[in-house]
Amino acid sequence: MASSILQQVFGYERFRGPQADIVAHVIAGGDALVLMPTGGGKSLCYQVPAIARQRAGQGITVVVSPLIALMHDQVGALHEAGVEAAFLNSSLTFEEAQAVERRLARGEITLLYAAPERLTTPRFQALLDGLQARGQLALFAIDEAHCVSQWGHDFRPEYRGLSVLHERFPGVPRIALTATADALTRADIVERLQLQQARQFVSSFDRPNIRYRIVEKKEPTQQLLRFLEAEHEGDAGIVYCQSRKRVEETAQLLCERGLDALPYHAGLDAAVRQRSQDRFLRDDGVVMVATIAFGMGIDKPDVRFVAHLDMPKNIEGYYQETGRAGRDGLPSQAWMAYGLQDVVNQRRMIDESPAADEYKQVMRGKLDALLALAEATDCRRVRLLGYFGEPSTPCGNCDNCLAPPQVWDGTDAARKLLSTIYRVQQKSGIGFGAGHLMDILRGKATDKVAQFGHQEVSTFGIGAEFSEAQLRGVLRQLIAVGALAVDAEAYNTLRLTDGSRAVLKGERQVLLRESVSQGGGRTRRAGT
Ligand code: ADP
Ligand code: ZN
Repeated sequence: MASSILQQVFGYERFRGPQADIVAHVIAGGDALVLMPTGGGKSLCYQVPAIARQRAGQGITVVVSPLIALMHDQVGALHEAGVEAAFLNSSLTFEEAQAVERRLARGEITLLYAAPERLTTPRFQALLDGLQARGQLALFAIDEAHCVSQWGHDFRPEYRGLSVLHERFPGVPRIALTATADALTRADIVERLQLQQARQFVSSFDRPNIRYRIVEKKEPTQQLLRFLEAEHEGDAGIVYCQSRKRVEETAQLLCERGLDALPYHAGLDAAVRQRSQDRFLRDDGVVMVATIAFGMGIDKPDVRFVAHLDMPKNIEGYYQETGRAGRDGLPSQAWMAYGLQDVVNQRRMIDESPAADEYKQVMRGKLDALLALAEATDCRRVRLLGYFGEPSTPCGNCDNCLAPPQVWDGTDAARKLLSTIYRVQQKSGIGFGAGHLMDILRGKATDKVAQFGHQEVSTFGIGAEFSEAQLRGVLRQLIAVGALAVDAEAYNTLRLTDGSRAVLKGERQVLLRESVSQGGGRTRRAGT
């Protein structure tokens, strides 16, 4: 039955990967938690069971989705396939919503898409009660299930209310789906949605056609231009920036260089955003320069690159954003530029947020994991998949595999830096920022050095042989491994942590990418 629905309704030959198992399990009335990468084919996992259960006289499937645009697209596509589908969200007038509700009550709908906040209203609950009483509630599908978790990268409080589904309708099977969930988020989804009994279907998260490349920021926009001009002429792609201002500037610059670039961020008029999005989907070779406001639910198969001009918050966000490249399976690239300033900015955003300390601590850990990925000298994919709990072997399709970076032993520089921080703190009783500390280590007699008498610190000038670029690399690495902390509440001063000791005592080696050690003669190949 399931495969005939697949063929007749959707026109596909066969199920892909785990789809067949998931569909069979859900049709049989089991609960499921599905983790599948973007483009993996999650929609069919509940659409086929919805049709099968409707045909078996079990009634309607309610799909919870956070995105109005996505509901529109899916309902449109289902209509074309001859499936009765409708949505209920804030884009409908009261009369339109009533019309949908009437169709629903008459059992004329197979799949109903609804926004989470709509689902938990008394009015909607009464509707569901009615359906349930008549045995016409076939299935709940909860899309983008990571939105229920505050540890996920897209927490939506409305999702919390979805726990009522299980409490009120315990007999109705549920399928929750997400493309991004590390172990913590996954556990949270299970708990919040009470999916302890659900079977988990975890697909490989690997996107083998995406080539990962992470570069150190020097002149980011120039680096981006060189990347685009050399490797992606005429290609469609997305450039993510941290701020609206940077989106505007970058889009303009790309346009000046003859690219078909459009800005996109939440500060732009809704009509303008819609137009840009339509152009991106319809026309060839449009480059969307955007904040993370852009992208969720956009299904464009031939996005050839996703570039991050600024470092995202965490690996989950990074992986979801880069996952928008190459849905068609053809070679695509994920390119990111990162620098110390990114780390400092992200830290500050965490530190200054009004969230609870426990939450901030988790966010810092996630940021550190991303930074460690950026600083890695071994296979990026192994690290990425490892972060999601999936073991793998070097991929041959990332920058580090293709051109193993030269590695520079920064252990000595790291110890000297840490002991400078220690001594300066001892002497002055306050912390200092990276620039000043590097000046001391390199023996630069600046006004500030004189003002604080820091030329008397015993490490003054003992790191004269290190370039500023080298020391910045060391600092980033130390922050990445937690051997140094940035105190955003005190002017980004650096302070030692519990992790500093192992480095100071020489128990922990600090290996750095060659790119930061221009001029350093003490290089060696990775892995030798
Ligand atoms: P996700 O929601 O996991 O990102 P979608 O459900 O949007 O993925 O599916 C991604 C693309 O793959 C869609 O264009 C879909 O039509 C296609 N697809 C899904 N399953 C199959 C299949 N079994 N055979 C062929 N194409 C499929
Ligand atoms: Zn690799």
